[in-house]
Amino acid sequence: MVHKVIQVTEKTLKEMEAYYQKYPKKKPPHSVFQVKVNDVTITAYQSKKVMFQGPNPDIEANRWQGSEAEKVNKPKKSHNYTPEPSLFHSSIIGSDETGTGDYFGPITVVSAYVEKSKLPLLKELGVRDSKNIKDDTIKTLAKTILQLDIPYSLMILPNPKYNALQKQGWTQGKMKTLMHHAAINATLEKISPIKPDGILVDQFSEPDVYIRHLKSEGHKLPVNSFFITKAESHALAVAVASILARYSFIKEMDKLSAEIGTNLPKGASHKVDQAAAKLIKQHGQSILSNVAKVHFKNTEKAEAYL
Ligand code: MN
Repeated sequence: MVHKVIQVTEKTLKEMEAYYQKYPKKKPPHSVFQVKVNDVTITAYQSKKVMFQGPNPDIEANRWQGSEAEKVNKPKKSHNYTPEPSLFHSSIIGSDETGTGDYFGPITVVSAYVEKSKLPLLKELGVRDSKNIKDDTIKTLAKTILQLDIPYSLMILPNPKYNALQKQGWTQGKMKTLMHHAAINATLEKISPIKPDGILVDQFSEPDVYIRHLKSEGHKLPVNSFFITKAESHALAVAVASILARYSFIKEMDKLSAEIGTNLPKGASHKVDQAAAKLIKQHGQSILSNVAKVHFKNTEKAEAYL
């Protein structure tokens, strides 16, 4: 006697129950139903595991395994642009952005080309994921990185331009995509005729979506481009890019704060709502399009304080 167990979704389980309803049904403990089809005993459990027992259980099991419902619920397979781990230790361009979740301030993107030979030094200097580094340390690290002759390109999307694009129907994903693309191309030009071993973008959307955004503006993905989430924790080139992008963001926020005469808080918390309310009172509603991503919920929340 052979048995085979598959895990199904609630939806498939319901479909199975309907499909087998013409067969005499039993209900052993912890099961949803049990039927015998030809020589195969099929037991569906409350855990959504289904056991097929008999001399040839595959005939029935295959009917359900890989069904449409199962495909939808399977964890997403890694895509075709997933890098080999060896890329993380090669001479690559890393690309990352900052400011996308912050109500105030621009989006900044940096693409940096880091030669393999510089990796040990960067590691020693404490270069790592910028998300876990305080602003003061970012400034110090960035200044050190800038002394190392690392070619990079910085793109800044100021708030007025951001808001205009957003009104035209651009998603933040599209803005980021085009910024990464511009930064990467600028870096490729800077290092030419050297070609990087690869280009690694800290993944913020499915590569297909990224490629579609490029195409919509007449661009193509450069050869040897790769995407992975949390790329800054895998590759120092991306960590460098993330630190430089964050450094630029901090500087832009300092500049905006000085221009407007108030310290603009980062993030999108209630502190941000209150700061926005204060700005509206002082300068009128229109000030927001110069300093904030106005489509964020914070705008409404700020108005509630008035
Ligand atoms: Mn990122």
